[in-house]
Amino acid sequence: VPVTRFFADYAWLGEDTATAGVLLGVDGERIVELASGVDRPVDAVHLRGVTLPGLANGHSHAFHRALRGRTHRAGGTFWTWREDMYAVAAVLTPDSYYDLARATYAEMALAGITCVGEFHYLHHGPDGAPYAEVNALGEALIAAARDAGIRITLLDTCYLAGGFDQQLQGPQLRFGDGDAAAWAHRVSALQGTEHARIGAAIHSVRAVPADQLKTVAAWAQDRRAPLHVHLSEQRAENEACRAAHGRTPTQLLADEDVLGPGTTAVHATHLTGGDIDLLGRSGTTICMCPTTGAGPRRRHRAGSSPGRRRLAGCRSAATATRSSTSSRRHAAWSSTSAWPPSVAATGRPPALLRAATCDGHASLGWSDAGA
Ligand SMILES: [Zn+2]
Repeated sequence: VPVTRFFADYAWLGEDTATAGVLLGVDGERIVELASGVDRPVDAVHLRGVTLPGLANGHSHAFHRALRGRTHRAGGTFWTWREDMYAVAAVLTPDSYYDLARATYAEMALAGITCVGEFHYLHHGPDGAPYAEVNALGEALIAAARDAGIRITLLDTCYLAGGFDQQLQGPQLRFGDGDAAAWAHRVSALQGTEHARIGAAIHSVRAVPADQLKTVAAWAQDRRAPLHVHLSEQRAENEACRAAHGRTPTQLLADEDVLGPGTTAVHATHLTGGDIDLLGRSGTTICMCPTTGAGPRRRHRAGSSPGRRRLAGCRSAATATRSSTSSRRHAAWSSTSAWPPSVAATGRPPALLRAATCDGHASLGWSDAGA
């Protein structure tokens, strides 16, 4: 395959500012040549403006796309939104989920996203009956990403309970594998491809009982696969966790060996100072959605804490990470609803661009992408 050359008026090469006159050579899916301060060759494809690396969407639930525009229904809360989400989950099939996900991923591709982390928990058929091909829905998502032209990390999600000491019921039955060992057995049958990698997720401390957490974490750690977990998106989760276990969700994850450099905590909205310290010292990455909680569109989902303050909280975790390990991964962006991230919000484009590109890719297990 011949090398294709692109000439960018400006490109962001990881420095504090964009670099002028950048020549890129691309062989297949890899950048193999890079030169800056050069004149534009006549045979190079001309990229005007500023060229960025591919963006990583660190956190997607593709089927939530069907709910867009409904989250502002009068009187709605996170919990009524969740009922709407269950109604969608109840009717999807592998074929319809492929169609929905392919369209969703195509929208991501058009927005500049080249890799998606799909937090996937819709595993089984109606009433929880396994499909003959037990990973039919996960395979549909992998195929959808391939056909939309983006990479995917399928973060196959362990989801066992409807809450602390609550059974799965109704549409939730499609999420469950019974226990973490059965989850691991099913997930081990999934195969990565050139465009797809397999990772793990713990839905939340609500949905995975404490005595099952280590099994999921060990599965990911043994394979050096990314491990993601929803963490403290809602104050109610913190309160229920304290009532059940006498500690915060972050402390519970720390005690069960879930945190670490291969782990990404999603949302991490309502943290204590001690939680931030635990996340930072363990080298855990934070994945945050710039519109959850900050913007009006999804305000119900994460409370009303200002996004900027939460960004400051994540920075604190990132700073602690930097001081204690050599890891360069700190924060990954997630957004299926607003893109690109508002660089102007903080006046620190390199940190945000790293989160949206190389750090996000690393969080998804593609440490050689996004740069
Ligand atoms: Zn989520």
